[in-house]
Amino acid sequence: MIRKALLYTGLIVSTLLYTSCIQASHDRVMGQAGVYIGNLHTHTTGSDDGKNTYREMVDEAIRLGYDFLVITDHHSISLDTRFRCANEKDILCVIGEEISTDEVHILAIDIKNAIPYGTSAQETIDRIHAQGGIAIAAHLNDPKYGTDWTYLDQLKDIDAYEYTPILGQEWYDAILFRQGTPVVLDSDAHSTEALKNVANSCTLEELSIEGLKQAIKKGMCTVYFP
Ligand SMILES: [Zn+2]
Ligand SMILES: [Zn+2]
Repeated sequence: MIRKALLYTGLIVSTLLYTSCIQASHDRVMGQAGVYIGNLHTHTTGSDDGKNTYREMVDEAIRLGYDFLVITDHHSISLDTRFRCANEKDILCVIGEEISTDEVHILAIDIKNAIPYGTSAQETIDRIHAQGGIAIAAHLNDPKYGTDWTYLDQLKDIDAYEYTPILGQEWYDAILFRQGTPVVLDSDAHSTEALKNVANSCTLEELSIEGLKQAIKKGMCTVYFP
C-alpha cells in the first residue's frame, strides 16, 4: 500500500514536471518530431449526446493549445468531420468513431467509412484495421460498463487501452502495472468544457496522422492536464 502510494506520488510529480517542460518548449510544426498534446476521444453534435458542434470543439482544442484532436462520434462520421477535418490548418484533426460492440466500446482512429455497431469487438477491430485505422478499447474504468479482462484478453490485435481519468483512479494502476498493451488517457469530451479535463501527451516521430498512430501503438503517450 505504502509502495503504491509512493509510486503514485512519483508519477504525479514526474507528470507535473514533464507537462511543465512541454508547455515551456511547445512548438508545433506539421511533419516535425516532438512532444505533442491532444485528445483521442471526443464527441460533437454528430453524436446524440454531444453538446457542441464540430467547429466549436475544434476551435476550443486550438485555443487550449492542442496539437491533435480525434473526432469519435458514436456510430457515425458527420459531414462536418468528413469534409472539414482533413483541411484544418491549425490542428491535426483526425477522423474517428466510437463503436458500441457486444462487450466494450471501441475507438477507431483514422478511418474513412463509418463502421456499424452491435457486432463483436473482434469483428469491429478487424474492420478498423482493414481501413488502416487503429483500435482502442475505450474508458475501461467506467463503472457503467465494467471491465471484463477475460473477454478483453481474448481480443487479438487491440492497439491500446483507454482510461478516462475523470472517472476514477484506476488509470494510475493502468499506467504503472499494465505494461503489455499501451495505455492512452482521454477526456471522452462531450462538450468544449470537458476538453479541459485531461489529454494525452505523445512523443511523435512526426506530427502527422501516421506519426500519431505509431506513437499510440508504441506506448509513447502519457497523461497531460491542460
Ligand atoms: Zn463510450
Ligand atoms: Zn465517447
